[in-house]
Amino acid sequence: MHFAMKSSTSHRWAIAIHGGAGTIARDASPERRRAYLEALEKALAIGRDILASGGTSLDAVEQVVRAMEDDPLFNAGHGAAVNRNGEYELDSCIMDGRTLATGAIAAVRHVRNPISLARRIMEDGEHVLIAGPGGDEYARQAGLETVENSYFFTEDRHQRWQRLQQHQLGRHRAGVEAGVVERGTVGAVAVDCDGNIAAATSTGGLTNKLPGRVGDSPLAGVGTYANNATCAVSCTGNGEDFIRNTVAFRVSAGMEYKGLSLDVATEAVITRLPAESGGLIAVDRHGNLSLPYNSVGMNRGAADSTGRFQVAIWDW
Ligand code: ASP
Repeated sequence: MHFAMKSSTSHRWAIAIHGGAGTIARDASPERRRAYLEALEKALAIGRDILASGGTSLDAVEQVVRAMEDDPLFNAGHGAAVNRNGEYELDSCIMDGRTLATGAIAAVRHVRNPISLARRIMEDGEHVLIAGPGGDEYARQAGLETVENSYFFTEDRHQRWQRLQQHQLGRHRAGVEAGVVERGTVGAVAVDCDGNIAAATSTGGLTNKLPGRVGDSPLAGVGTYANNATCAVSCTGNGEDFIRNTVAFRVSAGMEYKGLSLDVATEAVITRLPAESGGLIAVDRHGNLSLPYNSVGMNRGAADSTGRFQVAIWDW
């Protein structure tokens, strides 16, 4: 794998990742907890290695999210949440804080790594967001790997979906509260040693969602946002709450219009969301990281050029 290398090391690099809010139950087996923590460490190490060797924040967030899409533990790519028809539809977005360039896809069914399609759309530059069969076709024409929809199946998510239906819990939030549904959207935000920031998010969406439902993740300014002037943000949680509250751009706006610090800006937004909505990860160009959530926990990790390298599900 080739990454663009930069010579300057004047800025402090930093990266935060998430693997979903809501997470595994507190009484999950030690093996299951360890599996999640190890998966987070593995993904975080990919981003750290790219940034520490002078790579760009865009490469870091794309490669971290790709790895998490391939990991069946997370609700993105292989391991995506099951929709009401027992199928899989994927949403993803990537954004470049230097230029506000954005690429996103919604409700695609055959793209193995949705984040790389999002990046391709961003780099092609004609459109920002492509949904449905047009997204799958775009991937084929771009020569990206496409798969049968059943590629995204995992036994664990399928069983949870069936239990959700048996309990007639219906709504995703009820399933989360009953511990039947584990979330697990993935995302990454990073600043590189040139001070450029980027964000990426990828998800299978909410368990038992209606076919065609699109969440916050692929929406620039809602579930994903990056602007060198302020911050990069990637969100996870109940997408409808995040859409209604324009979460990612509000964090940026708090910094830009009110001069808030990253931490104050993220807290101000998270505390205004309905209880148990979820959380977000954010980075500013100085390498400050913020990872607040109002859910029971959030799978997450943080690393930077001072040597920080931490993953957690509940408290750090
Ligand atoms: N935010 C995602 C969605 O609503 C789901 C999640 O983060 O768990 O599609």
